[in-house]
Parts: sequence; C-alpha cells; structure tokens
Amino acid sequence: MTFADLGLSPKVLSAVSDAGYTEPTPIQAGAIPHALEGKDVLGIAQTGTGKTASFVLPMLTRLERGRARARMPRTLILEPTRELAAQVEENFVKYGKNHRLNIALLIGGVSFDEQERKLERGADVLIATPGRLLDHFERGKLLLTGVDILVIDEADRMLDMGFIPDIERICKLIPFTRQTLFFSATMPPEITKLTQQFLQAPVRVEVSRPATAAVNITQRLVKAGSKPWAKRERLRELIRAEGDEVKNAIIFCNRKTEVATLFRSLARHEFDAGALHGDMDQRARMMMLENFRKGNLKLLVASDVAARGLDIPAVSHVFNFDVPTHAEDYVHRIGRTGRAGRSGKAFTIVTRADKKYVAGIEKLIGQEIAWLDGDLSTLTAEDEAEERPRRGRTGRGERARGGRRTAPEKAKRPDEAAPKPAEDRRRRKDAIKSSNEAEQKKPAPKQEREDTSAPVGFGDDIPDFMKVHGKV
Ligand code: AMP
Repeated sequence: MTFADLGLSPKVLSAVSDAGYTEPTPIQAGAIPHALEGKDVLGIAQTGTGKTASFVLPMLTRLERGRARARMPRTLILEPTRELAAQVEENFVKYGKNHRLNIALLIGGVSFDEQERKLERGADVLIATPGRLLDHFERGKLLLTGVDILVIDEADRMLDMGFIPDIERICKLIPFTRQTLFFSATMPPEITKLTQQFLQAPVRVEVSRPATAAVNITQRLVKAGSKPWAKRERLRELIRAEGDEVKNAIIFCNRKTEVATLFRSLARHEFDAGALHGDMDQRARMMMLENFRKGNLKLLVASDVAARGLDIPAVSHVFNFDVPTHAEDYVHRIGRTGRAGRSGKAFTIVTRADKKYVAGIEKLIGQEIAWLDGDLSTLTAEDEAEERPRRGRTGRGERARGGRRTAPEKAKRPDEAAPKPAEDRRRRKDAIKSSNEAEQKKPAPKQEREDTSAPVGFGDDIPDFMKVHGKV
C-alpha cells in the first residue's frame, strides 16, 4: 500500500514524499481513510508507530477547504505535555509545507501575549495542553464553537496526569457535530468511559504495542549493589563498555531530583550529558531537546513525564537508571530505541529493592529479561556491604556520610572524578549551575507530577526499629 491509496490530497502527498516516507505504517493505513471520511476514530497506538501523521495528514487534507476566523480555531489538538504539543506543531510544519495554515501553540511556560495574537489572527490548527487552553478560554480570548475536528492524543497519559476533568470540560465546549480523533496507548476503564461519552460510532484501529513488536531491541538487566553510588558506577561502566555503539542514549530516572543528581555526576565524570526534567523552564527544555536531536549531546538524563512521547529518531540506547515502578513506563521507555526498524539496546539497572518491579515488567511484556552478567544472587558481600544506608536519602548518601572528608578518603570514593583542565571545569560548572537554577524553579505545575513519591519524614530510610512488622 502507498500513501496515494489513502485518499490524501496532492499537496499532502508531495510533502510526505519529500519527508522520505513511502509506505504508511499500520496505524496510518488504518486510520487515515476513515479520518478523511469524517468519521470518529479510536486509535490504540503509542508513539513510535507513526501515530502523529495518522491524524496530521488527514487534517491537512480536510483543512484545504475553508478558512479560519478570529478567535475561532477550526481544529483543536490536545496533548498532555508541552514537548508533545511542540512535536505535533513540527509535524504540521513538515507535512503542511505546501499549505498556508496558521498554527497556534498554547502551552504553559510561554507568554500569553504572543499566543493571544495568534488566536486573534485566526488559527487553522490549535495545539494545546488542557490547562493552558482553559486559561485562554476563561480569559475570553477563545471560542471553541468553530472547531470541526478535535484530536485527543495520549489519552491514557492525560489520565495519569489528572487531566480527565479538563478534557471532559473541553469536549462539552465543542459542538457535538465535530469529528473526534482519539488516541491512547492503553485502554483503562476511565478512558473507555470517556470514549463512550464523547465519540460517535468510532472506527477502532489498534496496532500492536512496541514492546511486543520490538524484537529489534536487545534488553538486559544489570545488577547493582546497594551502596548509594553503586548504580552510578554501574551506569558509567555500561556506557564505557558499549563504547562507540552508543550513538545517543536516554537515561531514565524515576524522580526529577534523581535526574539532577545523576546529570551532575555524569558531568563531573566528563560524560557528554544533558538533563530534561519537569522543573526546567520551557526554553531550557526545548534547547536541551534540540541539542540532543541534532546530535550535539550524546546522553540525555530524563524523567518519564519529561520524555514521554518524544520523537527522537534513532536513539541507540536506553538506560533505565531506576527500574520504573509502573510496568507500562518500561514499555514506553524502551520504545525510545529500536524505532523504525533500527536495532537498539535497553539496559535496566536493578538492585535488590527493585525485584518486585522487575517481576511486574516481565509479566506485562510476557517475557523474562536476560541478565547481563549474572543476576542479583551473584552480588558479592562487598557489593551489598551497605544494604541499608543510614539516615539521608539514597543518592546523597555519600555526601551526607562524607562530611569533611580527608584527602585519602576522597581518593577512595569510586564516584569521584579525576581532576580536569580549568576551562573544561568551568564549562561543566556552568552546565551544572543552569541545571540547579532550573531545579530551583517554583513548584511543578499539575502536569509535572513525577515527583509525587518524594519521601517525607524519614523517606525510604525508616530505621528498622520504627517499622511495624505484620499486623498490630
Ligand atoms: P510517531 O509515532 O508519530 O511519534 O512517529 C514516530 C516516527 O516515525 C517519527 O520519527 C516519524 O517521523 C516517523 N514516521 C512517521 N510515519 C512514517 C512512515 N510512514 N514511514 C517511516 N517513518 C515514519
């Protein structure tokens, strides 16, 4: 099957061909003809499957007739994160190069004024995160009664982020006669309910999940001891052992605080690394991402929320610095590599505390993941010497414990970097400083809920005597 068989307009076909795509992916082949007919579509697919083009291409074709009016966008695309929204905009620019469309992006972290000017001019395509869209609506800058096509993308992620009430509200503000294109990687009951409420006789198109389809990803578990720095040491070993095979890699952490700590550690060890987490402002996030995309940056340390759905072609490696606590996140993470038929590698660093999460992942993906060099039972007593670190949070343990370290002690610490030339040191200091500045930003907005598990009180380090064993 070719794109020409799908019923797309000549202008769209020419842009697709310029992008170098010859064959539609399954979600594109399944969704585009129905979307062109004006039917509602329920697409069960995740990023990496070509899902974005499956709604962008038919929308472009359908937008060729008619024009936008001030403050009344003709189409609306809802995305859970700013990055995804920006990515969809890029898709419109790429595939819409033969069209003269006004595209407005309404995302948090950017000034209202410019966004309002774009709305005032009349938007053919409005791409928004739910919160920011409602902000504009409440300021009276926006009418949703002219929306003919509504796209809800990554609906299950919207659910994770608590956006469903906003989505329901937005759906009710748009005429009932609209066409709705709805995408979700999974279909939990809340999402099914939403589709029953807001879709009309949708055509269901389901494509296989990357985790089961991605036979071209080599997955390995990598054991690590319980010392606070053990995982960082293991990660460095892994990256070094992979050598030139690592073209670019995403390193996933569970918490944004860990993202910052790990980034600083890698920078100290002179790795070419950057960080992406929810507290960085929009400009810093976009710059970081752009650098990574262009290949100016080899390693990107990221949290799930910040990295969700990023369209970064050809990531050679994914390193799970932390085992994800939600098995679904593992699927999304490793889906960053092995895309579009390329091969990829996914390493997951595992400590004893992670056992149950690994079991959950293996159950979800329906296969056991092989260990790189022996499972947890092969850890030595030395590896496990500090199974239960004393007070202080994991990852900061060595500093907390170190206090005023003496020179020989310092040299013994495996996490310490060798001295560097002054200029290089300055450059890295600047990078660390800008990461710190980003971290000091105000509390995260609703969509950045990645750190909800941050410890309170004793955190993970509750002294044993305070724990209640069994029932009381
Ligand atoms: P998405 O699932 O929308 O995030 O797309 C994943 C990647 O596949 C993006 O880099 C797209 O540019 C690329 N892509 C989209 N459609 C095709 C296609 N028909 N053939 C090859 N690659 C594609």
